[in-house]
Amino acid sequence: MFDVAIIGYGPAGATLANLLGQAGLSVLVLEKDAVIYPLPRAIHFDGEVMRIFQTAGLRAPVEAVCRPGLKGMHFVNAEGEAMLIRGGTALRGPHGCANNYYFHQPELEQVLRQGVRRFDNVTVKLQHEVTHITPADEHVMLDITDLVQHRKSQVQARYVVGCDGARSLMRKTLGTTMQDLGLHQPWLVFDVLLKANAPTLPDHTVQHCDPERPMTYCNVTGNRRRWEIMLMPGDDPTRMVAPEMLWQLVSPWLRPDQAEIERAVIYTFHSLIAQGWRKGRLMLAGDAAHQTPPFLGQGMCAALRDVSNLAWKLEAVLKAGVSDALLDTYESERAPHVRAFIELAVRLGDIIQATDPAQARERDARFKSGQPEIFEFPSPRLGPGVLSGNNPLVGQPFAQPELDNGDLLDVRLGRRFAVIAREALLEGVSDETRGIWSASGVTLLPACDAGLREWFDQHGLGAVVLRPDRYIMGVATSPGELDAITASMPVADLQPH
Ligand SMILES: Cc1cc2nc3c(=O)[nH]c(=O)nc-3n(C[C@H](O)[C@H](O)[C@H](O)COP(=O)(O)OP(=O)(O)OC[C@H]3O[C@@H](n4cnc5c(N)ncnc54)[C@H](O)[C@@H]3O)c2cc1C
Repeated sequence: MFDVAIIGYGPAGATLANLLGQAGLSVLVLEKDAVIYPLPRAIHFDGEVMRIFQTAGLRAPVEAVCRPGLKGMHFVNAEGEAMLIRGGTALRGPHGCANNYYFHQPELEQVLRQGVRRFDNVTVKLQHEVTHITPADEHVMLDITDLVQHRKSQVQARYVVGCDGARSLMRKTLGTTMQDLGLHQPWLVFDVLLKANAPTLPDHTVQHCDPERPMTYCNVTGNRRRWEIMLMPGDDPTRMVAPEMLWQLVSPWLRPDQAEIERAVIYTFHSLIAQGWRKGRLMLAGDAAHQTPPFLGQGMCAALRDVSNLAWKLEAVLKAGVSDALLDTYESERAPHVRAFIELAVRLGDIIQATDPAQARERDARFKSGQPEIFEFPSPRLGPGVLSGNNPLVGQPFAQPELDNGDLLDVRLGRRFAVIAREALLEGVSDETRGIWSASGVTLLPACDAGLREWFDQHGLGAVVLRPDRYIMGVATSPGELDAITASMPVADLQPH
């Protein structure tokens, strides 16, 4: 019997397989397709996601297939005039890397799959479709069809995570309904590969806020460029993907002899969130649990935050014997967080998809008067879960500063609970607290390095407790507060690995 079976080998399934492989659990990945999904999808992820790849030991190979997005986003009107410029970001932001990256999803998925090959404890079966999921008290039974040999078989796992995408069988099995957050709009996604004689197109992203045809332009990586083009009433979807139409749509910037069409596909963007991500031994993650319109480039990011949240909890339950009630905090923490991103993406969609000329004029005037509050990147807190206290920092990711010896913080902390504290405060904690830290392999780091001291001074705090996913579990100003947070850590028997 496997510890965990993962249905689906997209970005969510492959990242979870890396994280669970690293934890030493026995894992089975089942994927119905023979090859990585080749059609155009995600092109952007954020700094927190790069930090998850770093945790999975894959930062360097991921960096090799993406580029930091430092140039920001320009909102231009129908005449091409820039109405609002959302600034770029620094090469090293709060997560110890850039805040934004651009990439080609199939290349990233290839890196993730290569990463999984490091682990003998992870078995991957491609062209194996899960056809039925039967939960029992002590395990879950999966019915599988080998799509090459046309053979049926069964396999057991203690927990099963459905990373099986928008049409999730796991979601149907759970009987989970999706709450609709309101946006359903078809867009044409058009990727080209520039030839040597192509003009210099901008590095920054452009939102063409033309009420007659809203469009987004993006420099992906290398010579790959993307236009996302809103379908208007009366558009014939078949005609829209015809080469002559595609070239006409991008004719202000590119001629047919300057680039090769890679792909043109029409997608309907949705905004949905599942209600009920776990029942017993079954769980949902990624697009199976939520779908986000891509205006903020956050669908896959949310998927990876899901599995980062879930991986350490599965490890605690399966390896350290922590009660599996811990798994209930997965949805309670993640659902409000992803909802905040979906709601902002829907609001942003309403703004850039304005097709009524009067509404568009009003928007343009607002842009020019400088009211960019909608474009603040959200940093929602996790919902209720493995968190202690009401300080607004609790439930937010901790920063990843560089330490005095040049290491990034997470490298020093490892993937476990961690306490970072001023030495004076550490001296006052109880023996019981020290006993819990030592028995459960908690990393202890005095806040001596300049980057950490600066954070503690800025916030007027004496200690911070971090979870293995680097979210802040609690903050303390006294040894007693640190004792109280430690007492509620779900780690009692967790051993270092
Ligand atoms: C046009 C577009 C642009 C986007 N841009 C961005 C962006 O810039 N940034 C961003 O973060 N996100 C973006 N996204 C969203 C992102 O692509 C998805 O959120 C991401 O792919 C979800 O990953 P996943 O692993 O959850 O699901 P998927 O990638 O859909 O993977 C699910 C896998 O499960 C397999 N599967 C399903 N059922 C079974 C079964 N019964 N048995 C075995 N295998 C099964 C499927 O074959 C598939 O491989 C975009 C999406 C689109 C469409």
